[in-house]
Amino acid sequence: MNEHPDGAILQRDKTTYAIVPRTPAGLITPSQLSALARAVEKHKIPIVKITSGQRIALVGMGKEAVQAIWDDLSMDIGRATELCLHYVQSCPGDSVCTFGLQDSLGFALELERAYEGLDLPAKVKMGVSGCPLCCGESYVRDVGLVGRKNGWEVSFGGNAGQRARIGDVLAADLPRAEARALVDRLLDFYRTEGRKRERTARFVARVGIEAVKAAVLPGAEDAT
Ligand code: SF4
Repeated sequence: MNEHPDGAILQRDKTTYAIVPRTPAGLITPSQLSALARAVEKHKIPIVKITSGQRIALVGMGKEAVQAIWDDLSMDIGRATELCLHYVQSCPGDSVCTFGLQDSLGFALELERAYEGLDLPAKVKMGVSGCPLCCGESYVRDVGLVGRKNGWEVSFGGNAGQRARIGDVLAADLPRAEARALVDRLLDFYRTEGRKRERTARFVARVGIEAVKAAVLPGAEDAT
């Protein structure tokens, strides 16, 4: 049995925990904000931190308080340590931004819904940007989407960590459904060939981007 409560991350003091409610694409409702504020006051949570993944972390509660806080929030668990999709971050895109060329928020929500809970070799983060200015940090995410005038560009294998890597662009000018289908094939290939805890950046470096292209791009094998 897991010694830690579900959805709780043990902190460096080895005593207190953090939790991260799921906020797909960084969107949050007024009722969720109210519930968060009430829970923070009620349970005297010492730190509330907006994360780089467009989520809100509640930090510093005791083990016994974790389930009560989840009950008060009525929000899904945002995964932060498991081998699965952790989040899809997104810029506002063409719903509000002057420069937006594509619907990044809508696509990010679709991706998060599609892959939430999917087991993967390692944690996966996705970034969706509504134009090439790339405010969604797409090129340093495992899967990156960038909206351009004629459709979506898809990149794979990006990472912003200690061994940073710019993702390889696999295709451009795709309609959303085709970009989504390409992400499906990328994750299928990664699930089949990736080693446990091997992030996509290391995976691409090991197998080579040409092998990735051959596996996921229709006709790529014929062209080589
Ligand atoms: S990436 Fe483009 S569309 Fe998205 S917020 Fe930045 S400028 Fe706007």
